[in-house]
Amino acid sequence: MRIADVLGQPGPHFSFEFFPPKTNAGEQSLFRAITSLKEFDPSFVSVTCGAGGSTRRKTIEWARRIRDEIGIEPLVHMTCRGVGQDELSDSLGELESSELHNVLALRGDHPLDEENTQESACLFASDLISRVKTHLPSACVVAACYPETHTEAASRTSDLEFMKAKADAGAEVFITQLFFDNDKYFQFVGRARTMGITQPIIPGIMPIQNVEQIKRFTQMCGASIPKHLMTLLEQYKDTSSAVFYIGVAHAIAQADELLRNGVPGIHFYTLNKSPATRLVVEALRNR
Ligand SMILES: Cc1cc2nc3c(=O)[nH]c(=O)nc-3n(C[C@H](O)[C@H](O)[C@H](O)COP(=O)(O)OP(=O)(O)OC[C@H]3O[C@@H](n4cnc5c(N)ncnc54)[C@H](O)[C@@H]3O)c2cc1C
Repeated sequence: MRIADVLGQPGPHFSFEFFPPKTNAGEQSLFRAITSLKEFDPSFVSVTCGAGGSTRRKTIEWARRIRDEIGIEPLVHMTCRGVGQDELSDSLGELESSELHNVLALRGDHPLDEENTQESACLFASDLISRVKTHLPSACVVAACYPETHTEAASRTSDLEFMKAKADAGAEVFITQLFFDNDKYFQFVGRARTMGITQPIIPGIMPIQNVEQIKRFTQMCGASIPKHLMTLLEQYKDTSSAVFYIGVAHAIAQADELLRNGVPGIHFYTLNKSPATRLVVEALRNR
């Protein structure tokens, strides 16, 4: 089912992001993790794609397995930076023949081989969205957005203008970059609505599980960690169980407030680990 239509049904809508594992052991543990989250009746599960389309075959294969073997609607991530015409056409053909109807169209980060960039069939996500809509007119295209502004954007306004270009190219749903301060999300949605962006904007949240890791991630993606949360994390950084529960408690409080304010759903960045996400969704379900 198209995700835009799923969101039109009564919620709350929970969804989970996974990445294709590199090893056999990783594959088995991922299969178990997704299967275990099925009891929460996720609206969809998304599968990431490496920069330069590096995991594109595995991404599509996992999306098929999630649909056919686990019975959850998949959202296929597709990146375009460093992806040439032939590869792009192959991927679109494979989506069509596999009857995968939901695509998260992304520019992606620069592939390690910088020279690849010259070969890109599409330079920005809005170009890829147009390509997907031309090839698969009935697909539901989802796009990324940034409550704290994309790290390479010239300005907050230009970033919003390019988000509007993605909506105009055919994106029907947006999912945000992770954030830890709900005010950043609410203010961002306000600005997007003022720009005429009417599509649902699903907040993406990540339960923190490791202090050094989250510092690295937030530095890379431009998200900020509120001072009180960072102080608490620093205080307990050497006790992994304490960090785990601080992360879970913060994610519950964040998601609870978001749901009370009528968000279209909550998308969880799981890092292929289900225990923290399970605790958060369990708490939300019983609230
Ligand atoms: C929900 C979500 C899922 C993600 N999944 C993946 C994944 O699976 N694999 C992966 O590699 N990465 C993933 N990312 C990261 C994403 O690829 C990076 O953030 C990337 O740097 C930008 O991708 P985008 O699609 O938002 O790019 P775009 O929308 O193309 O924007 C990229 C930058 O260019 C600017 N821009 C946009 N259009 C133009 C234009 N026409 N002219 C000039 N400037 C322009 C924007 O302001 C922005 O700064 C994900 C991010 C999110 C939020």
